[in-house]
Amino acid sequence: MLIDGHNRKVDYLRISVTERCNFRCQYCMPEKPFSWVPHENLLTFEELFLFVKVSIDEGITKIRLTGGEPLLRKDLSVFIKMINDYAPNIDLAITTNAFLLSTYAQALKDAGLKRLNISLDSLNKETAHYIAKKDVLNEILAGIETADQVGLKIKINCVPLQDINDKEILDLLEFCKNKNYEIRFIEFMENSHANVKQGLNSQEIQNIIASKYKFEKTKKDGCSPSQSYTLEDGYIFGIIEPHLDNFCSDCNRIRLTAEGYLIPCLYFEDALSIAEAIKKRDLGEAVNILKNVLKNKPEKNKWGDENNSNRAFYETGG
Ligand code: SAM
Ligand code: SF4
Repeated sequence: MLIDGHNRKVDYLRISVTERCNFRCQYCMPEKPFSWVPHENLLTFEELFLFVKVSIDEGITKIRLTGGEPLLRKDLSVFIKMINDYAPNIDLAITTNAFLLSTYAQALKDAGLKRLNISLDSLNKETAHYIAKKDVLNEILAGIETADQVGLKIKINCVPLQDINDKEILDLLEFCKNKNYEIRFIEFMENSHANVKQGLNSQEIQNIIASKYKFEKTKKDGCSPSQSYTLEDGYIFGIIEPHLDNFCSDCNRIRLTAEGYLIPCLYFEDALSIAEAIKKRDLGEAVNILKNVLKNKPEKNKWGDENNSNRAFYETGG
C-alpha cells in the first residue's frame, strides 16, 4: 500500500501520455504552447508499462491516461491492452477531447477500456470553436456517439466560463441526462497559461441548475474529487470544487508526465524523474523515487502561493 507523508492512501495514478494537443482550449493552453517535449524524450509505452506494473504491485488500483490529448499518441490502445492484460480488474479510464474518438473508439474497447471521460464545454458550434480555437463540435459529438455505440461508459467534463458557456449549463445537463451520461462541471482553476478571466464557482453552477430542477447533495463517493448531486428523478451530476478549502484532504492521486516526471500535486513545483531508473530497468530505484515523491506530497496544493507551479494543465494531464 502507498501512503503519503500526511497519512493519505495513494492508489490513483494519472499518466499524461503526451502534452501535445489538437485543441488550444482557452482555459488550458496558450495560443503558442511554450514548448513541446521532443519525441525522443518521451518514455515509450514499454517503459511506461514497466512503471505501471510496479505501481500496481505497490498498491495502485486506478489509472487514468490523459494529456494533452491522449488519442494523439500512436498505439494508445496497445498500451491499454498491456495494462488490461496485466491487471484486468484495475479501474482504467482515459480523458479525451473526443476529436479523434470516432476513429479509435472500437480499438479502445477491444483493448479492454471500459469507460472514458470526454470534455464537452458547449453544444453550440461557435462557442465550442471559440473555446477550443478550432471548429470541433461535429467531431466531438460524433466521437461521443461512436463511443456510446461500441459500449464505452461515458462521463462528460465541462468547465463553465463566465460569459462564454455559462448560459448552456442546463442544456449540457439535459443533453447528458437524456443520454444517461453523468456530467461533471469543473470549476475553472486559475493558472498562468489560461486566457480566461473567470469561471463559475460551484454555488453559481448550482444556482443555475436550481432555477429548473430540485436536487440534493449526495454523500461523497470515497476519494473522488467530484461532489455528486441527485435530481428528484434520480439523475446524478457532479461538481469538481477545487476552490473548497478541504479539497485536498482525501487526495489519493499521483501524476506521471510523458517524460517521466512524478508530480505529487497539480499546484506544486517539486517533481522527480523516474526516466533514468526506468531506462536502466532499475525498478527498485523507480519505486524508491515514487515513495520519496509521496513523502513530499503537500498536504494542500500551493495554489495562489508565489511559488506556485508554473506547469500547465496540458503537461500534467489536469
Ligand atoms: N485533452 C483531454 C481533455 O481535454 O479532455 C485531456 C487532458 S485535459 C488537461 C483534462 C481535463 O482538464 C479536461 O477535462 C479539462 O477540461 C480540464 N482542464 C484543463 N484546464 C483546466 C482549468 N484551467 N480548470 C479546470 N479544468 C481544466
Ligand atoms: Fe487540449 Fe484538453 Fe487542454 Fe483542451 S483541455 S487544450 S483538449 S489538453
